[in-house]
Amino acid sequence: QKAIGVLTSGGDAPGMNSAIRAVVRAALHKNMRVIGIRRGYSGLLAHDMFEMNLRSVSDTLHRGGTMLYSARCPEFRDDKGVERGKEACLQAGIDGLVVIGGDGSFRGARDLSLKGIPCIGLPGTIDNDIASSDYTIGFDTAVNTVMDMVDKLRDTSQSHDRCSIVEVMGRRCGDIALHAGIACGAVSILVPEVPFSIDAIVEKMQRTLRTGKKHFIVIVAEGVTSSDGVGTVHDIAEEIEARTGVESRATVLGHVQRGGAPTARERVLASEMGYHAVELLEKGIGNRVVVCHENKIVDYEILEALSMKKEFNRHLYDIADAISI
Ligand code: ATP
Repeated sequence: QKAIGVLTSGGDAPGMNSAIRAVVRAALHKNMRVIGIRRGYSGLLAHDMFEMNLRSVSDTLHRGGTMLYSARCPEFRDDKGVERGKEACLQAGIDGLVVIGGDGSFRGARDLSLKGIPCIGLPGTIDNDIASSDYTIGFDTAVNTVMDMVDKLRDTSQSHDRCSIVEVMGRRCGDIALHAGIACGAVSILVPEVPFSIDAIVEKMQRTLRTGKKHFIVIVAEGVTSSDGVGTVHDIAEEIEARTGVESRATVLGHVQRGGAPTARERVLASEMGYHAVELLEKGIGNRVVVCHENKIVDYEILEALSMKKEFNRHLYDIADAISI
């Protein structure tokens, strides 16, 4: 009887449990054994694994985080570590592996595939920074979490005629900021993909102040810096207050964005991807990532997926700018 392993690696994301559940149930349905590996590649090297059955994933579909825990494993970055990973799979009787994580985790999955253990990657990260997939598992929930939080901030900004400057996650990818910014009616959305200046934000606020607008939301992706050198949300808030006279407050949302129950959309995406991964392993196919492309679940060779360039949705960004006045 064929056995497949499943692990989560890198940063956790809501929906990872939904994906694990789909993998476990699909594999058992196809008469394969399933071995859950704890704490990513670290757990693989430490043989921290257990046999899963239909009930192992009961009551997990709707929970955030990952029931398998996640970790980073520096040893897996070199060949010796991957070789030990292969040995661990052989010893545990694992014929194929599903790796839920980001690009780094996919590199490990590729290395292990090349050593003869077929691995399938599933994109799990809130940042939506995986070029090969239109959406990653965790993104939709994170955007909804940000939206809920900013709606609460809006209530208090509105009561005091204030400007709320909100930092969201996505160091190299402005997708959370862009989508949450549109959903929350942010006057400005600052992302790493589009250069911006404080001058332009101030000018836009002054223009809208003249039309009677009194409270503002500015969404900032973490780690962005303006062309005039203003960095943190606290600096931005100070600068906006000094130049517009609108009282401004900075809020850093932080790790709340990584938690929470996955949205319906997330659960469906994760379930479909998990099932697809098992179908590939059933055929003995490895070295692929399962992604969402134009609303379809498809798979690409890992290296091909890793070489793709993420395209920022400039059209959506321009729409956001046009209607937030
Ligand atoms: P996220 O960006 O969401 O945190 P990620 O999967 O990109 O997810 P990383 O920390 O980059 O997160 O990678 C997770 C793990 O994948 C690493 O700890 C390591 O075990 C493995 N890994 C990363 N890069 C490589 C590589 N070049 N070769 C082999 N394995 C790697």
